[in-house]
Amino acid sequence: MDYWLRELEGKQAHDPLLIERMKKSSESSSCSRERCVWVPGAVIVGAGPSGLATAAYLKEKGVPSLILERSNCIASLWQLKTYDRLHLHLPKQFCELPLMGFPCDFPTYPTKQQFIHYLETYAERFAIRPRFNETVRHAEFDATLGFWKVRSFNEREVATEFLCRWLIVATGENAEAVLPQIEGMGDFSGTVKHTSLYKSGEEFRGKTVLVVGCGNSGMEVCLDLCNHNATPSLVVRDTVHILPREMLGKSTFGLSMWLLKWLPIRFVDRFLLIVSWFMLGDTARFGLDRPKVGPLQLKNLSGKTPVLDVGTLAKIKSGHIKVRPGIKRLKRYTVEFVDGRTENFDAIILATGYKSNVPYWLKEGDMFSKKDGFPTKPFPNGWKGENGLYAVGFTKRGLLGTSMDAKRIAEDIERCWKAKHSTTFSLSLNVPQSNS
Ligand SMILES: Cc1cc2nc3c(=O)[nH]c(=O)nc-3n(C[C@H](O)[C@H](O)[C@H](O)COP(=O)(O)OP(=O)(O)OC[C@H]3O[C@@H](n4cnc5c(N)ncnc54)[C@H](O)[C@@H]3O)c2cc1C
Repeated sequence: MDYWLRELEGKQAHDPLLIERMKKSSESSSCSRERCVWVPGAVIVGAGPSGLATAAYLKEKGVPSLILERSNCIASLWQLKTYDRLHLHLPKQFCELPLMGFPCDFPTYPTKQQFIHYLETYAERFAIRPRFNETVRHAEFDATLGFWKVRSFNEREVATEFLCRWLIVATGENAEAVLPQIEGMGDFSGTVKHTSLYKSGEEFRGKTVLVVGCGNSGMEVCLDLCNHNATPSLVVRDTVHILPREMLGKSTFGLSMWLLKWLPIRFVDRFLLIVSWFMLGDTARFGLDRPKVGPLQLKNLSGKTPVLDVGTLAKIKSGHIKVRPGIKRLKRYTVEFVDGRTENFDAIILATGYKSNVPYWLKEGDMFSKKDGFPTKPFPNGWKGENGLYAVGFTKRGLLGTSMDAKRIAEDIERCWKAKHSTTFSLSLNVPQSNS
């Protein structure tokens, strides 16, 4: 049996009962055929900002952890799946990870490169060294052992099973691209790509491009295409709240947070809509109808984020970006819209968002919804499940939500860790006494 016990926690290393149970459990599982690694402390799945923040907090509290990351770098969403012109959508003070702020000379909205640099420095500062190219495909609590078994596969499809007391899910709200089913997609002869593969409008210079989806990414990609002399059209199927990124000399997000301290959400929403109307005009005139529910209430109810305009609306008003309704079907060179209009396009960019991948690999009770892969308990209670299972970064509140989750998780694990180690310590002190 190729069974590697790297490190055992305290006295458990010499606990014959535990070792016997592990042997039995491994005989009945695939562990006898694959490498097994014991992780003292927590296993964290995902080396994005949420995984890094939790590892840093745990380290500060003296609890060890191991991050498993499927790609070959930290913050793979930011490094590998975002476009070149991306800046943080929210001001930097709302995007800091715990225990280490942004450098003072960073602008209010750091660039993607600056944010990645910050995360790399963060990982170095807390000596976080994830195990890269490890895709977790199965994790389950072994009630006999009282531990989580986390099975991951490296790039050569070699499996390793990690055993741990605490499992922290940090795979993110944006783990997999959502690709819509559109009739005739296979027949379309032009390029079709998701925004996760879009880097810059340079590739589309002089081309007609249809961007599907009017969230922050879709709107910004349209602007980028305009800036590279492409001709974009934007598919808007649904209602959308567009707000200026800044109002009254403050960031709209910061101002909203501040107003919410004093006023009920519906008043803040009304305020945001009035100021937006003065600054942007009636967006419905350009085919961008607003939802009936205000932007903050809608965010609370459905998680749908308002678009913070960085200049796209001006291009829509000037006619450089055309707004189109939903797609009915695709043909070889053309797109037919639901209003019966047909137009030729060279390329289609799908700004259709992302989804969680938790239900594919985590086998557990009801902490996560099988449908959407998000915690079933509403914010702020979704961070903790049963048997030492935790979730970080699933609050639909960006990096602010990540920091809150990471703190709670680290404090909770620290309590168990200290309790267990003090018991172990007092037990080991007691042994000679009881023997004497
Ligand atoms: C274009 C864009 C702009 C954004 N701008 C902001 C902003 O300005 N402010 C803000 O607060 N938020 C913003 N967000 C939200 C953003 O998702 C979060 O800020 C942040 O990246 C979330 O971090 P995370 O660690 O939870 O998830 P991620 O960054 O997605 O990291 C999850 C990690 O888990 C890994 N992983 C997934 N599945 C597995 C598996 N099975 N096994 C092993 N590893 C796995 C992934 O490879 C990834 O590295 C933005 C998102 C996008 C897409």
